[in-house]
Amino acid sequence: MATTQTFSTLSSFLDGNWQTPSEPMRAVYGAVTGEQLAQVADKPTDALAAVVHGRTVGSPALRALTFHQRAMILKQLAQVLNERRDELYPLSRQTGATDKDALIDIDGGISTLFVFSSKGRRELPNSTVYLDGAAEPLARDGSFLGQHIYTSRPGVAVHINAFNFPVWGMLEKFAPAFVAGVPSIVKPATDTSYLTHRCVELMLESGLLPAGSLQLICGGVGDLLDHLDCQDFVSFTGSASTASTIRSHQGLRDNAVRVVAETDSLNASVLGPDATPDSAEFELFIKEVVREMTTKAGQKCTAIRRALVPEALQQEVIKALQERLAEVVVGNPTDASVRMGPLASQRQRKDVLNAVDALCESECVKVFGDQSTLTVVGADKESGAFVSPMLLHCADPNTATRAHTVEPFGPVCTVMPYKNAAHAAELMNRGSGSLVASVFTHDPSVAIEFASRAGAFHGRLLFADRDSAASSTGHGSPLPHLVHGGPGRAGGGEEMGGIRGVLHYMQRTALQGSPRLLGAIGGRWIKGAPEQAELPHPFRLSFNELELGKTIHTAERTITLEDIEHFANFTGDTFYAHMDEEAAAANPFFPGRVAHGYLLLSFAAGLFVDPAPGPVLANYGLDNLRFIKPVPPGDRIKVRLTAMEKNLRSEEYGEVRWNVEISNQDDEAVALYELLTMNAVTA
Ligand code: NAP
Repeated sequence: MATTQTFSTLSSFLDGNWQTPSEPMRAVYGAVTGEQLAQVADKPTDALAAVVHGRTVGSPALRALTFHQRAMILKQLAQVLNERRDELYPLSRQTGATDKDALIDIDGGISTLFVFSSKGRRELPNSTVYLDGAAEPLARDGSFLGQHIYTSRPGVAVHINAFNFPVWGMLEKFAPAFVAGVPSIVKPATDTSYLTHRCVELMLESGLLPAGSLQLICGGVGDLLDHLDCQDFVSFTGSASTASTIRSHQGLRDNAVRVVAETDSLNASVLGPDATPDSAEFELFIKEVVREMTTKAGQKCTAIRRALVPEALQQEVIKALQERLAEVVVGNPTDASVRMGPLASQRQRKDVLNAVDALCESECVKVFGDQSTLTVVGADKESGAFVSPMLLHCADPNTATRAHTVEPFGPVCTVMPYKNAAHAAELMNRGSGSLVASVFTHDPSVAIEFASRAGAFHGRLLFADRDSAASSTGHGSPLPHLVHGGPGRAGGGEEMGGIRGVLHYMQRTALQGSPRLLGAIGGRWIKGAPEQAELPHPFRLSFNELELGKTIHTAERTITLEDIEHFANFTGDTFYAHMDEEAAAANPFFPGRVAHGYLLLSFAAGLFVDPAPGPVLANYGLDNLRFIKPVPPGDRIKVRLTAMEKNLRSEEYGEVRWNVEISNQDDEAVALYELLTMNAVTA
């Protein structure tokens, strides 16, 4: 039998303190033994104080830091949690999770912090303003521009989470909000809140988090939502019915509070029409369906609920799945032989069994999973929330309705036949919007057809085949790099998706003004803003000394035919446009022989480089290169190079982005690009 750890009363961390909860209380029960483990308050002592604390303490503290500084804190936090993760595993087992399940929740959560940290430092500037795209010219003479920017909203992000991933569920929302500079008020689902509670304790004990940037509500939210306004957020994960209750909250509607919801999803997986019983894709499909049914006992919002298979293969698929499911050992996660633990609570077990009964009333037949003969290892079958994996067969998915709408949130999947790819896509889409769908095919034409017929109904589409089998992250794993969320029934929300997830917590504003003013706001020099062209040469200035707008205008250089031929023979690039007058003149883009674009870049470097050792440590690339006008022999080129943007990368060096324009003797731009150098911070 399990050794259970109990926690008495779980406090909330609000307004800078752990608060002693007051009556009335709610009981929290263990998934394995059904014993009461803890209790939580029905509502927080003072929800308004928490919101005010987030806005007046957490928000200013976070907004005083740059994206990079916030991202660096996330990295340190991830390291702390990584060192302490062994303390979270025993608690995770009490939620019913096997160690493999816990890996997804705990290690998956920590790795989400690492990914947002690294993306935040690589893809965002070391400042507090994010520029969305390039400046939009709004006047012919360049004196009036538009520029979209994102700034941190000065509100709080309320994160209401589901019970199934108490750590990952919290961290996947917390990480992007933190990088965005928005403090979080986390409200875990009561059933598994003791695990989130311990994780938050570790995060706060680390001393890394600015005051007010993370608060925790264990138990009900009370009147929290009444206090939110247009700068706040609610990000919800849970059932469609709770999402609907939250969305119709009068205060949230009246104050236009941004609400994002991730809800139920009847995710489908398709065995492609090209698969045969002896194909690699058939075997991969069977494995994935069983994995998705049994991981977290099927309590994953992304689990495969509907397995769509070619009509002719349905019996073979069912037989293969029955054989694999018969091998699954159900029981106490502390027993090493156990592959699937219990559901999170007796309430969940009741809900799942009721949902299966509803499906089997008329539309489906159960072809695996007899609850009465289920053997449970290391725990009492009735005290814990144990269920058998259950496989259903829906022979006529066209007339079925429940099979496409009822979500048993447990180890349950329904096999359905389809006639052809168009039919399969139509059945997939009958889920009315899902988080993820997958197609097991090795045929690109099948993949193209599913992407175009089903893409719009699903937040993520996984194509699985033999080529990616060894490295694929699988159907059910949301990744911090990719969008998690889906249309319609899935809630219509989006989370994560790399930097997209950070921007969800910020406000996009369209700025209008002169290049000088917009450049100053965005921390990026814009053409038309003042240039400082006096000596010294910009390459003689350290990162700290260099000011945006610092410019060099070079002398001219004439391009000769000998230069072009020399370059062609030296590099081997003897493309006819450089070597054959007649052929070049017949080309619609060229007047005759012209200089290589790369020759122009090389000559430009020769014109602007200051060669002696100095603060410029390395040239590491070009962005946004465009060759605008051909340069025939006899033309003269010159270069303007201007310091455009600076991003500190470490204590020793920083990245400088230079705006470069190569122009001809008539002052027409012939090439534009942005050059990147690494510069020493001090001389
Ligand atoms: P739920 O009952 O909707 O609960 C979800 C969260 O909402 C819990 O933290 C819950 O707190 C809270 N809550 C309930 N009523 C509330 C209210 N009136 N105001 C504010 N918060 C409220 O969902 P569940 O049954 O625990 O979770 C299972 C469902 O979640 C499944 O249907 C599954 O599909 C969905 N889910 C979706 C995703 C996704 O990413 N799309 C992920 C996981 C789960 P208490 O626990 O204290 O009641």
